Amino acid sequence: MIRWLHDISSVLPTNGEPERRKLAGIDTVVLHCTAMPDWNVWETARYHTGPNHISPDGCPTIAYAYFVEPDGILYRCLPHETRAWHVGPWNDRAIGVCMGYEATEIPPPDEQLEAAADLCAQLVLDMGLDERRVLGHRELEGTGSVASEGHMVQRKECPGMSIEMDRFRRMVADAMVRPGGPGVREA
Ligand SMILES: [Zn+2]
Repeated sequence: MIRWLHDISSVLPTNGEPERRKLAGIDTVVLHCTAMPDWNVWETARYHTGPNHISPDGCPTIAYAYFVEPDGILYRCLPHETRAWHVGPWNDRAIGVCMGYEATEIPPPDEQLEAAADLCAQLVLDMGLDERRVLGHRELEGTGSVASEGHMVQRKECPGMSIEMDRFRRMVADAMVRPGGPGVREA
């Protein structure tokens, strides 16, 4: 099946000049969730570019390069050259894929998780990587977890504890080898 990717990067709100990064340094795709009830991509972008929990002055852009709605609709929010603020020390090397999902004990809809896996598969294929480079936010050292007094402390549950990341990576791997590939195309 073909999944259409809708590019809304030119119309989402921004806040000052976005930071730039080198494409060659990107080697990771990070899965996130909004953790907010019913927030769509527009509400998420408005929140990130206004005063928020990341910065009192607002971030330059939405934090995520891609957004996946509950029904599986895919949006490109940023070009890969834009250095967005989603994973602290990993911002130079990571592409953020966010699901509009509240991260309760109820898992996200299958349509959404499958669309996110197909998108991640397309991204790692396009970059010459594999599913091992698809990580959940909570798996990243320095932002998902941090060292404190000699112990690692879990700081984030993102993209939600009901998403088992090894299972998600198997979905990504399956999409990579599917006849026709993941099938994500520019709309
Ligand atoms: Zn996150």
